Amino acid sequence: MNSTLFPQFSLSTDRQKSSAPVSGTESMIVIGGGPAGYTAALYGARAALSPLVLLGPAPGGQAATADLMENVPGFPEGISGQALAARMREQAESFGARMQSEDVTAVDLSRRPFRVKTFDSEYLAKTLVIATGAHSRRLGVPGEDRFVGRGVSFCANCDGLFFKEKTIAVVGGGDSACDEAVFLAKFARQVWVIHRRDQFRANQRARDRVLSHPKIKVIWNAVVDEIFGEKRVQRARLHRLDTGEVSDLAVDGVFVYIGMDPNTQLFEGQLALDSRGYIVTDRQQATSVPGVFAAGDVQDPDFRQVATAAGSGAAAAIQAEHFLAHEE
Ligand code: NAP
Repeated sequence: MNSTLFPQFSLSTDRQKSSAPVSGTESMIVIGGGPAGYTAALYGARAALSPLVLLGPAPGGQAATADLMENVPGFPEGISGQALAARMREQAESFGARMQSEDVTAVDLSRRPFRVKTFDSEYLAKTLVIATGAHSRRLGVPGEDRFVGRGVSFCANCDGLFFKEKTIAVVGGGDSACDEAVFLAKFARQVWVIHRRDQFRANQRARDRVLSHPKIKVIWNAVVDEIFGEKRVQRARLHRLDTGEVSDLAVDGVFVYIGMDPNTQLFEGQLALDSRGYIVTDRQQATSVPGVFAAGDVQDPDFRQVATAAGSGAAAAIQAEHFLAHEE
């Protein structure tokens, strides 16, 4: 099973780790290669800043795991996340953005130029656009960690094919849970959606698709208490929040879609973060450190759409360009 589970930017505690010598100072480094990062790179490139994009462990971001997106402006027929990511990248590169498949391990924002370390190199940057995105939240119940890759998944697009004619539980009641339940029903014999309340948070269209799908059944007011199995997942223990009833559901897989947490570990103690860990930005996408901007899910607890991520990426790059012009 090949699951891209936690597209989290890694954090090194060893800041002295050996790295190649710093070469020149970049005008703009973009950290993260999702819709926000690619759009920032496009705008930075068109402003002749020749941005360097450090793509991180999951190029394309969360969006790249989506089977079909129908709400990306300009694609009335819908577009897959992979195809969209490839087109965004190609567009940014065509104007001079440089893409590097490197994971950032540490940053130093205490002085300018900013320092950005990867496993192999160290870079200096006059401006930074942080677009490191968010990662899937875990249930935190017994069995979840043990069965990751053996029935527990956070990515239907990565793992769905392994569940042909199987029975699957999808946990959550938001857009992701509903969209992915419908996607998984293409392969599975039966999909159970387990939601802790008696109504979905998802948009109306996604709800309707789930509720009208012949292979999908919803178990309302229930949470997963534990996941069991021998070598692979075999059962999920459900706990009904309205009646208190506890029962076991026979399933081959558990797909967890209970929301996201921002990838901000790298910036703790260096940038202002809110109580949930999101980078705090102003209307100009500026962070608490002048010259450092943030865009996309890493600073957005509310919308987390491709369209809003791209918009904030564009704004961040425009502001970085203004910052440089003002400095020079
Ligand atoms: P979300 O909107 O935060 O929904 C998370 C769901 O998981 C909620 O239904 C929540 O229940 C439930 N939940 C949270 N913690 C739980 C726990 N510990 N145990 C059981 N259930 C739990 O997350 P998301 O669906 O991943 O969506 C994230 C963002 O991406 C949203 O802004 C969404 O609109 C966007 N998105 C958009 C699309 C699209 O436009 N097609 C597709 C995917 C995602 P409650 O409802 O009770 O809080």
